[in-house]
Amino acid sequence: MNVVTRFAPSPTGHLHIGGARTAIFCWLLARHYGGQFHLRIEDTDLLRSKQEYTDSILASMRWLGLDWDGPLNYQTQRTALYNEYVDRLLASGHAYWCSCTPEEVEAMREKARAQGLKPRYNGCCRERNLGPGEGRCVRLKAPLAGKVVFDDLVKGTIAVDVSELDDMVIRRADGMPTYNMAVVVDDHEMGITHVIRGDDHVSNTPRQILIYEALGLPVPRFGHVPMILGPDRQKLSKRHGARAVIEYQNDGLLPQALVNYLVRLGWSHGDQEIFSREELIAYFDGSNLNPAAAAFDPAKLEWCNAHFMRELPLTELAGLVKPFAEQAGYDMAALDASRLEALCHMFRERAANLKALAENFAPLLTPAAALAYDEKATAKNFSETGKRHLAALGPVFAATDFSQAALEAALQGYVEGNGLKFKDVAPALRTALMGFMGGPHLPEIMAFLGRDETLARLARAAA
Ligand code: GLU
Repeated sequence: MNVVTRFAPSPTGHLHIGGARTAIFCWLLARHYGGQFHLRIEDTDLLRSKQEYTDSILASMRWLGLDWDGPLNYQTQRTALYNEYVDRLLASGHAYWCSCTPEEVEAMREKARAQGLKPRYNGCCRERNLGPGEGRCVRLKAPLAGKVVFDDLVKGTIAVDVSELDDMVIRRADGMPTYNMAVVVDDHEMGITHVIRGDDHVSNTPRQILIYEALGLPVPRFGHVPMILGPDRQKLSKRHGARAVIEYQNDGLLPQALVNYLVRLGWSHGDQEIFSREELIAYFDGSNLNPAAAAFDPAKLEWCNAHFMRELPLTELAGLVKPFAEQAGYDMAALDASRLEALCHMFRERAANLKALAENFAPLLTPAAALAYDEKATAKNFSETGKRHLAALGPVFAATDFSQAALEAALQGYVEGNGLKFKDVAPALRTALMGFMGGPHLPEIMAFLGRDETLARLARAAA
């Protein structure tokens, strides 16, 4: 099957998660069928469109791994092309010039409303055979009866009576083609076979189909995906923890986690939750798209990210956490790749994103003298007995090799040799090393800190 999809963002803001999910669906459908995925920048809103947003959207697409085929298309550069199609419709009698002023059209709408009818243009200029002229727009001559029917990939069959649709403007009086006109021309010129977009556009689709039909062009398949809602099933917003893709990136989310999470928000493959990119491509065939709106769940996104962080090869994770370690202000000269890997190994189970992972490193990268102690932990664990153990452990560790295995054996030897239990010694030792009752396996911490730092921590805590 020949499948060509496109993502058509308006550069009036950063890429948000709703848009990202649409882009992912379009990309997956194209990749599943070995087709093409195009990107079109819908920048006709000159007041709100900004190049910086286009750049940011492209950067987010790259970060998510959504590569596109062929050149980028900017709608503002294609006005002449759209107008060629408008001229074609005029020439074939499928469109006409209209001299009604906006005030007149508003009055028609008002009148219809007053009669309890749908507000619409009344077709006043339809048969007037007007030519071009100052203040005249071009309207599509829509059929007067019948239904526009399409089989939506997500919502199933949708039928709209043409009486619902008036003769829409396709070129404004200022010579600019309208949005629906531009989209149809673009989708046709770009060879788009499947239009997947947010369902805020579902009311545009019958209008666009009328334009395709008037032009005698094949109509693509449409799929309208429901909006992502907040956990309270209201419109999704920042207050629900929803953010732009770039903010997730800055927080240290992994792109594969965000992709996986967003795909599942509106599509399913049995009850599988975690997918590799290859699996997504293999399974995503345009079926099993959920017509019901899904609710954004920040906790599940976090869970998903933690999963991918655990699965990553350590070297890769260390490379990814590095910029976040820099941001945290650590002395990077002292943090070579192998030390970063060791830190990742110790803390990756304890952090839900790269930023939090890097922040977890702090106690191990702070010199003994500057280590911050948690008050409760010290009050509880630096008792007389606790301090006595710490003082006694100093020489024990001083006499060992600082490999994890040797430290493990030395600690074990001290505990057993003194007829103690591990829990008699561990809390004091953990507080001395970390400053609080958390962190990884004790011998692993000590092996990372090395002899001098470990002994300095024990001495400071014992004192
Ligand atoms: N530019 C539209 C948007 O950002 C997309 C329109 C479409 O996909 O047809 O919502």
